[in-house]
Amino acid sequence: MKVALYARVSTQRQAERGTIGSQLQVLRDRVTASGDELVGEYVDDGQSGARLDRPGLDALRDAAEAGLFEAVWCLSPDRLARAYAYQVLVLDELARFDVRVHFTDAPDLAADDPQATLLTQVQGVIAEYEKAKIAERYRRGKLFRARAGEITTWKASYGYRHVSRSAAAGPAHQEIYEPEAVVVQRIFTDRTAGLTVREICRQLNVEQVASPTGKATWAHSTLSRLLRNEAYIGRVYFNRTETVPDPRATRRTRQVPRSRDEWIPIDCPRIVTDEMFEAAGRVAHDNTKWSPRRAEPGAWLLRGLVKCGACGVGTNCHKMRGRNGTWHRYYYCRNHDPLRAGGQELRCPERNIRADALDEFVFGQIRAALTDPDLLLAGEHAVAVTTPIPDDELLCAELARLDRKIDATSAERRRLVDLYQAGLIDLPELQRRSGEVAARNDDLQTKRTSLAAERTALAHGNLLRRRVKDFARQVAGVIDQLDNTQRQHLLRLLIDDVHVTGWHVQIHLRIPLDAPDADHTRPGPNRPTPPPSGRRRVSSQDRLRSVGDPQRRQLPTQRPRPRSCPNS
Ligand SMILES: [Zn+2]
Repeated sequence: MKVALYARVSTQRQAERGTIGSQLQVLRDRVTASGDELVGEYVDDGQSGARLDRPGLDALRDAAEAGLFEAVWCLSPDRLARAYAYQVLVLDELARFDVRVHFTDAPDLAADDPQATLLTQVQGVIAEYEKAKIAERYRRGKLFRARAGEITTWKASYGYRHVSRSAAAGPAHQEIYEPEAVVVQRIFTDRTAGLTVREICRQLNVEQVASPTGKATWAHSTLSRLLRNEAYIGRVYFNRTETVPDPRATRRTRQVPRSRDEWIPIDCPRIVTDEMFEAAGRVAHDNTKWSPRRAEPGAWLLRGLVKCGACGVGTNCHKMRGRNGTWHRYYYCRNHDPLRAGGQELRCPERNIRADALDEFVFGQIRAALTDPDLLLAGEHAVAVTTPIPDDELLCAELARLDRKIDATSAERRRLVDLYQAGLIDLPELQRRSGEVAARNDDLQTKRTSLAAERTALAHGNLLRRRVKDFARQVAGVIDQLDNTQRQHLLRLLIDDVHVTGWHVQIHLRIPLDAPDADHTRPGPNRPTPPPSGRRRVSSQDRLRSVGDPQRRQLPTQRPRPRSCPNS
């Protein structure tokens, strides 16, 4: 009979110790003893039994399909696969190709032998259990060693080297790696001297100091992280994250951070002093606090509002000293930074924008818009034309008609009473007919009330025109007395954003007007923009025409009209 062998060892270490050789020897002896012809040996060296895609097993399955042998010898079922489900899969497949599987350490699997099947199943289950137990024991062992102060992660921070546990070196620990520690010290010294992270990056790159991952350039984030790494003051942490199942289809697990009280601090040799570490942390804080942008509030009037027209991203504020010693303020596109743009070739082609020129131009435009009632009304009108406005005269006529009808019903009642007194109709007839007249009168009164309300609303709308004029006059009175911070606040209230492309400036306005039923006398920009109200159409009961909700008379808050003006 033609037979094959299958052997597997799971790790490289087991492979080195010759387990694969001893497995094969056992199997070969067995084949010789049974007098069969050995036609192939299929071996997986250092392959985990937790997965099925192993080269040796694949070759065995292919050969079985090709009918090269009739039986396979193997040490035990868990050599085929660790998981029971996989074992069954492989055994079923081989059975389909009429290949019998013999185990030297387990009874042969006969389809009609329930005891053997059960044993195979139990062996698979035990193997799974062992694997879980080993993983758990390994994790707990690591935790225990970390609590005892031993560094259990092989990964060391920049400036250190990991020394594994051994008889000579003792417990696993970290040693200072002098060539890198010098760089760490220098980074901290530069930082405490007030250099920016970017500047330190640049200098390291110029001097061709390799980054922690061996790259030619230091990233801003790498250096920021390094400056916050507590290993440099003698503390590394274990147990900072935990592994949880990942719901994403392609991943099995992911790491999430644990709360800080679960972290286990482990001592390591320090590279910088506590004072230096803290001083470096303070620089970051001070740089933000004493930034010229904070020191000169309102200096960049449009701070946070200017967008680069070419890239569509926001701009940063920047101050530079000119050749003759004067300061120039700029807005510059964030994509000027090749790191942020994602590559040198993706850098923004636009030049810096002169902040004083842009601020003055935009403020001038806003000032003109706010002090010109016609401009404001044009905007209001543009919104109002979309809904029909009830005509005042038409409403008046309708009201008069209703009043006449109501008078008529009163006259009709009087006539009915006259008829009754004259004895021309009897009492039940009087009651029936006066009931009809009363109902008609009620109906007319209701219509009149609603129409009168509409008329008030219309008068209210007309008031807006006067209020806009009033508003513009008030603005003109105060707008030139605002200081820079107040101007900045005003611009933020009125402007959505300012797109600058070359010499072309596009201001996206949003003009907040108060709701018409709020305070009439002091409309102003100093209140928050009301949310746009939904439009409601109310049909008058007399089917005069549908009228708008008085609420509609406020301007929409988002981008009414882009105004395009060439920058001067
Ligand atoms: Zn840009």
